[in-house]
Amino acid sequence: PQGSTVAELADLLGVPANDIIKRLFLLGTPLTVTESMSDDLIELVADDLGREIKIMTKEEENSFSFYDDPKDLKPRPPVVTVMGHVDHGKTSLLDAIRHTGVAAGEAGGITQAIGASQVQINGRTITFIDTPGHETFTAMRARGAKVTDIVILIVAADDGVMPQTIESINHAKAAEVPIIVAVNKIDKPGADPTRVRQELTEYGIIPEEWGGQNMFVDISAKKKLGIDDLLEAVLLEADVLELKANPDTFASGNVLEAKLDRGRGSVATLLVNRGTLRVGDAIVAGMSYGKIRAMIDSRGNNVKEAAPSTPVEVLGLQSVPMAGDEFRVFQDEREARSLADERALKARIEEQNKVKHVTLENLFDTM
Ligand code: GDP
Ligand code: MG
Repeated sequence: PQGSTVAELADLLGVPANDIIKRLFLLGTPLTVTESMSDDLIELVADDLGREIKIMTKEEENSFSFYDDPKDLKPRPPVVTVMGHVDHGKTSLLDAIRHTGVAAGEAGGITQAIGASQVQINGRTITFIDTPGHETFTAMRARGAKVTDIVILIVAADDGVMPQTIESINHAKAAEVPIIVAVNKIDKPGADPTRVRQELTEYGIIPEEWGGQNMFVDISAKKKLGIDDLLEAVLLEADVLELKANPDTFASGNVLEAKLDRGRGSVATLLVNRGTLRVGDAIVAGMSYGKIRAMIDSRGNNVKEAAPSTPVEVLGLQSVPMAGDEFRVFQDEREARSLADERALKARIEEQNKVKHVTLENLFDTM
């Protein structure tokens, strides 16, 4: 750290302050414990003690801060998660959306390359997270990750509110994410969209047309009805949220999913929240670190950079991070590695402590 005192440096290096004072004296720079040292002097003394210290530049220090000057903030696409009860049509809706937002010539040729996708509508982009089911959403929240700006709650009009509908509402509310309701399967004979609206009022989800806060859009994912209206509702909600991020800084964000691939090694899908991620960047993701070797966008294309709200699959991490882990770009790979190692060590210690605390009384709770 810049301008550390003798005492702080002693603390950092884990040596008696007197040792440092002695060295300083021999170097012809007598200082007392509370006096601060110049950067050069810190490096010199550390070197003298057989230790290496790297003083961070202002730019490097900034890479650790998440503060952005308001004038550096630029609009970014909304990040949307579709949630709802099983079989109410999440997968069908995402399929329908993927075919809506692309040029006619491309339709049908779209393969889902990674666990997230981006669609263009009215010249604007929307990012959809495809994978997070309830479990992933919970895992992300447990790690303090906020990856979604808007939740689309899908409810089948022939089935109504079901247990996982309620779970989804609870997740979205806990995360303080606005909910847009997609009332699906309106093409079905038994469909009753009004009943869905009525049932949801019990959970505080009240349609705007009834004086509430939530937009409702009737759709058929199967027949591709109402999809454009739904996407327009998402853009309206995004306008209200005024989503912005600074693209001109070190990238950070979250891991959406990660796995070990036989041929390619550790493969992680990352969602950039802030900054621009580039091939060649040194990153830490949870307890994993590495240098980005390649990036693949949601269409399966190789890309060199990824701006805020962009999902990309990255190659180059040395191990497999966990869904929900935060990632961050560092100035150099060594720095990234030492932070990752430090975290791994801490996790091991915590794990050991957990084991130690098992007593006869709590043994059965942990089983
Ligand atoms: P998920 O479990 O929420 O992902 O639901 P799926 O998308 O897999 O859909 C479950 C079933 O409902 C499938 O057989 C779909 O074909 C069907 N389905 C989905 N959307 C619609 C719709 O709008 N109308 C009708 N009739 N069937 C639908
Ligand atoms: Mg599904």
